[in-house]
Amino acid sequence: MNTRRDFLRKFTVSAFAIPLIPNYSSTALEELYGSINEGPVLRVAIMGLGSYGTRVAEAMQSSKRAKLVGVISGTPSKVKDWQAKYNIPEKNCYNYENFDRIKDNPDIDAVYVITPNSLHHDQVIRVAKAGKHAICEKPMAINAKEGQEMIDACKQANVKLLVGYRMHFEPHTLEIIRMRKDGELGKIMFFQGLCGFRIGDPTQWRLSKELAGGGSMMDIGIYAINGARYMVGEEPIWVTAQETKTDHVKFKEGVDETIQFQLGFPSGAVASCLSTYSMNYLDRFFLNGERGFAELNPSTGYGPIKGRTNKGEIDKPHTVHQTVQMDAMASIIFDGTEPVVPVNGEEGLKDLKIIDAIYLAAKTNQKVPLKL
Ligand code: NDP
Repeated sequence: MNTRRDFLRKFTVSAFAIPLIPNYSSTALEELYGSINEGPVLRVAIMGLGSYGTRVAEAMQSSKRAKLVGVISGTPSKVKDWQAKYNIPEKNCYNYENFDRIKDNPDIDAVYVITPNSLHHDQVIRVAKAGKHAICEKPMAINAKEGQEMIDACKQANVKLLVGYRMHFEPHTLEIIRMRKDGELGKIMFFQGLCGFRIGDPTQWRLSKELAGGGSMMDIGIYAINGARYMVGEEPIWVTAQETKTDHVKFKEGVDETIQFQLGFPSGAVASCLSTYSMNYLDRFFLNGERGFAELNPSTGYGPIKGRTNKGEIDKPHTVHQTVQMDAMASIIFDGTEPVVPVNGEEGLKDLKIIDAIYLAAKTNQKVPLKL
């Protein structure tokens, strides 16, 4: 008889071609992977054929339940290249002017929006109006008001809205969440999230307030916000924040270079986080409870993710995050699967509400209350 574990083993080995560790057991992972392996295939068009879109397309080649079938792009030469590489028919190729016509295309189920942050809002709403499911990269939008409008549009069109939170399917991350839920760390008291890198080219869209909606917080600090919530397992009720800027030429008004922020949770736990565009090798989560600690370092890169606790190293396989994410998203859309940590629009909106509050706290030097 095929057990769920056999199922999981087959899925993991074939999808990622990585060795599985012996005695592999994690209820959360088995529940997740065991249930996403079979069922209809999600036919996806990627919008925005840039650096991350390219990574997602390549990873999706190994997905069991998601297939790249279309593109939406402003660059005809990229469209040609992608058509040749992924065997994409002309009828599934669109640009930013004509992609509303996708509503008449029965061969596409979902559009994955992987464009600069400030474009997500209008593009996702147009995708919803075309009757297609929307998968949107983080940050879902550039503020909570826009995020809410995207949720409303998708609800009205009766399509799903999912956010590309790939870490929600990562084995080391899920193992720490399991340990915390099972009480192995005791009462959670503290989380630290350090997220940053040194940003290069000063002319890129990430350093434009208009296209990025902000600076490091929108791009990389959001991982610390999101991580604080799924690691502590509560929603924050207040935020304080301090901004520092050492380069006023590169980081113009409204584009944050470095922000430190603190989140307070109902239980009394606190999170202390750093988001920056000025330091490399900053990718660490640390969770401390009354009886134990758990650390991820690196915590949100493409992997391998490494984890340890007071009991020793966390021994879990490396996965290709985007491959698993796309399989899981197919299962969410078609089977109604509920992942351990949600990836829906409401989850994206919570992070946007916190980002709004962090910017306000940094500007006013006040403690800002939060209601998520
Ligand atoms: P890139 O600049 O590499 O690609 C963005 C693409 O968007 C472009 O190549 C272009 O594609 C399209 N585009 C449409 N309008 C514009 C415009 N006005 N300016 C620039 N590009 C435009 O960015 P990334 O791929 O790194 O990031 C895209 C999104 O993905 C962001 O929201 C980012 O936060 C997110 N991301 C998420 C990651 C994750 O791990 N989850 C990692 C990296 C990024 P075309 O020529 O086809 O029109």
